[in-house]
Amino acid sequence: MAQNKEKDNLPVWDLSEYYASEDDPQIDKDLAQYAKKAENFAQKYRGRVAKLDADEFLEALKVLEQLSQMASRLGGFAHLNSTTKMKETKATALYQKVVEQLTHADRELVFFTLEYNKMSAAAEKKLLSDKRVQKYTPYMERIRRFKPYELKEDVEKTLLEKDVTSGSAWVRYYEEYMARLTYKVQGKVYNDAEISKLSLSADAKIRAAAGKEINRVAKDNSFTVSYIYNMIIKDKATEDEKRGFKRPMSARNLSENVSDKTVDTLAETVRKNYKNIAWRFYKIKAKLLGVKKINYWDRNAPLPIEDDANYSWDDAVKIVLNAYDEFSPKLYNIAKDFFENPWIDAAPKAGKRSGAFCSGPLVTEHPFLMLNFVGKRNDVLTLAHELGHGCHHQLRQKNGILNETTRMTTEEVASVFGEMLVFQSMLNNAKTKQERISLLAMKVNDMINTAIRQIAFHFFEMRVHEERRHGELSAQRFNEIWLEEMKASLGPAVVVDKNSEAIWEQVGHFFFLPFYVYAYSFADCVVNSLYWLKLTNKVENFEDKYLHLLSQTAIGDYKEIFKPFGLNPEKADFWQGGLNLISYYLDELESLLK
Ligand SMILES: [Zn+2]
Repeated sequence: MAQNKEKDNLPVWDLSEYYASEDDPQIDKDLAQYAKKAENFAQKYRGRVAKLDADEFLEALKVLEQLSQMASRLGGFAHLNSTTKMKETKATALYQKVVEQLTHADRELVFFTLEYNKMSAAAEKKLLSDKRVQKYTPYMERIRRFKPYELKEDVEKTLLEKDVTSGSAWVRYYEEYMARLTYKVQGKVYNDAEISKLSLSADAKIRAAAGKEINRVAKDNSFTVSYIYNMIIKDKATEDEKRGFKRPMSARNLSENVSDKTVDTLAETVRKNYKNIAWRFYKIKAKLLGVKKINYWDRNAPLPIEDDANYSWDDAVKIVLNAYDEFSPKLYNIAKDFFENPWIDAAPKAGKRSGAFCSGPLVTEHPFLMLNFVGKRNDVLTLAHELGHGCHHQLRQKNGILNETTRMTTEEVASVFGEMLVFQSMLNNAKTKQERISLLAMKVNDMINTAIRQIAFHFFEMRVHEERRHGELSAQRFNEIWLEEMKASLGPAVVVDKNSEAIWEQVGHFFFLPFYVYAYSFADCVVNSLYWLKLTNKVENFEDKYLHLLSQTAIGDYKEIFKPFGLNPEKADFWQGGLNLISYYLDELESLLK
């Protein structure tokens, strides 16, 4: 397959392997067929799941696989298609229609897992003695895990159906609302992606104008966004309470198969490092910027010594692929497919979602990468990041659609590791001391944004969900909690005041994936620990072990999958080990500055 190219050689994705366009008549045909198939499935198996023999059970799983495949194609196309056309009603309406119809049809399938959980332990053991069924063990274990939190079938059905107009509806409203916001700096109008770029300008005055403008727009929309957020939190709390989850993060942690205690240990360990890592770094950064204290929006400001280089798309691809190849030719072989096929949409454009993501609707087929590439060094690292997700997806295909799941705590490992490879190769190829300083400062800056800042977000999230139990929070209260958590993590060298109080509205994960943010830190600390082992050559056959780890992230037990590396995530020193890598780079940066 050849790639379509836009201006500057930027690739455009081609979704036609799913459907020709949003007008493709096959979409309605497939939706109808999906509903029919789900109905037939229910007629055949309802009331009998707990007593199925191995042959019939396998037959049922095969149908579920087909249904999942169909739903992924429909939902995946509608979603991907809408992300580059957020302002086109046709595209957003199709997405909503597909979600509604799939959700409606899925009511027919709810009985299966509920009935499965009524199966006796003896019957399950008998099923699992069949080799063909054993293949589905990860899927079956995942269902069992939710057993204590399941509600009656009619309640489950109602929750699922109401979700389209409650929880999911608020998320959709948030996304579409935010995509429409515009920002004005010096008389010019900018969209979300453009203003973010402006806030990284080399010109301190422009950064300040952009930083204040982002906060002003957030404040102007505080009433609506606070309202949405209050609804999302309450909607989640209502369901959590019915299901019997003790803490707001418990539901997420259960689906991750991570204990609350593990996450608390991670968060507390990171908080203990605020001072010796984040505070220490921002003091250095202030010095490098030639000021006493840095403004909130200057945390990510480029340093005066940076050359503000621009990378063409072709340069970026070369740098990333070379770094992947140096680490592992096997990984390179997987990665290069993304540039030989129309799987990437790289250029920013009006109505396109901001940021970047990798989405693989079909477990058994390749994913797509969405970027907003503008040629900064950070865009090269973002490419390395999303490509890491892409390769990770490819390594999991053989696990099968029912066994595979998104486990966010390890979802970010391949991506952050990919970034690490590109960073290290940039550092190795640095020609001057200046360049090393600039690279190290950038890397530590990013590591703090991921490992430490996301935990500050996590504490914000914990507190607002906790407080919401006692009633709605005002916009002002959200702002207060935000400022407290930002001050604690950023330290005395960063100005945290009214000019950044409403920035929490910009953190999309708070809205569409509550309690996701800690996963970034989780993954970063895991990667840092792993990367340290690679740097110091402490593990034999590291590459093969690493690729195997990636293929197991969704289906393996954490203690087991990290064992080949001698790591145990249940211990606090596991996290501290990862944080020590940041300190190590920080030490190197300090000594270069002496
Ligand atoms: Zn990611």
